[in-house]
Amino acid sequence: MASSRSTKLRIAASVLFATGFFDAIAGRFLFEPRLTDPRPGIPLPGEEWVDLAGAIHAHSTYSDGAGDVPTVLAGAREAGADFLLLTDHNTQQPLRDGWEEKYALSRPFLLIGTEVTVEHGAFVLALDMPAAWEPTKAQKPQVAIDEVRAQGGLPLVSLPFDVKHPWRDWNATGFEGLEVINFSTIARRHINLLSLAWLIPLYHLRGMQAVLRALVTRPDQAMARWDGLTAGGERHFVGIGALDAHALMKIGKKKYPIPSYADSFRAVMTHFLLRRGDTEGDPERRKRAVYDALHTGRCYFSYDCLGRPPRFEFTARNKTDGSVVRMGGDAPPGTELAISGFGARTLIRLFRDGGPVAGSVTGGLTHRADVPGAYRIEVSRYTLRLGPFFFGARPWIFTNPIYIS
Ligand SMILES: [Zn+2]
Repeated sequence: MASSRSTKLRIAASVLFATGFFDAIAGRFLFEPRLTDPRPGIPLPGEEWVDLAGAIHAHSTYSDGAGDVPTVLAGAREAGADFLLLTDHNTQQPLRDGWEEKYALSRPFLLIGTEVTVEHGAFVLALDMPAAWEPTKAQKPQVAIDEVRAQGGLPLVSLPFDVKHPWRDWNATGFEGLEVINFSTIARRHINLLSLAWLIPLYHLRGMQAVLRALVTRPDQAMARWDGLTAGGERHFVGIGALDAHALMKIGKKKYPIPSYADSFRAVMTHFLLRRGDTEGDPERRKRAVYDALHTGRCYFSYDCLGRPPRFEFTARNKTDGSVVRMGGDAPPGTELAISGFGARTLIRLFRDGGPVAGSVTGGLTHRADVPGAYRIEVSRYTLRLGPFFFGARPWIFTNPIYIS
């Protein structure tokens, strides 16, 4: 009798404390994300920088995705993305077939890379590669990374902490960054028999977006790895938020057409800061500018399913000559870091090498960075505040660091 009661209690506790359970309840009754927020890609008059929202890492029927290229792009359009980065497995055939050119002037526009399978089934995103290049599967990670770099491309570690295919070779060098958020990894980690017991009713009552919002969690392991790689402010690694969208979910041997491309793309976007002049007119110039922003780390990623990020600034200003450094840039010790542009119900935290150094609930903060290191911002949205207590705080926006060295 006692043991069956303790079993029931254990099951009840597992359900109650399953990832996102209380957040989902809070989200249901208190917090409605503003999906109609202004599109960040539209610059305000006189503003030099434009925020382009990119849906990164998706598969079409060129590999194991459910939809052809126009279908995937239609999903990105429905989700409000400014561009889509298509990354089919081990092939650049869609690039050679002219899809990137065909959609160069559309909104969203299309960029094409590939996801290369390396030894042990881990993955490298190979971006900005020559169209003629085709990857070799199952090479050693270092060999694959070196090959991408030799071709002038951008290698990024994909699905670094995936349940099935984690990245193992952290001694490899030459990769430019990592998918700090991979939404498929997050879903795989949190969907299980217990969480399905409430995710399925949530899906029927509130739809797929409510389910995706319930899965939103801070990717602690990947954040810690990223902080370790950039610690000290000497070495630069870009962090991005990616989807791995297939519009197919395997449960057992069955395949279900969920979540749709549009639902996936709404969950996470990586936002790139581009000079306005680079975003108008020539598509080739815009493409170069996107890859340059990625290479530099002039980008941030966010759970857009919790609401579109506002136009905000995270800068280091040199007091002597007034020059401004943005995410991914370098500045000397003693520089003042400034964050502004967030509204009420946000918690801003500034981290140095992964440790919190300042926080604010007033929508902005300044901090004199005397100690060298990688300084980055995390913003959470919360539902309710009672004095010093926050309720329903959700991780929302993650910037790339400004490097003080
Ligand atoms: Zn993938």
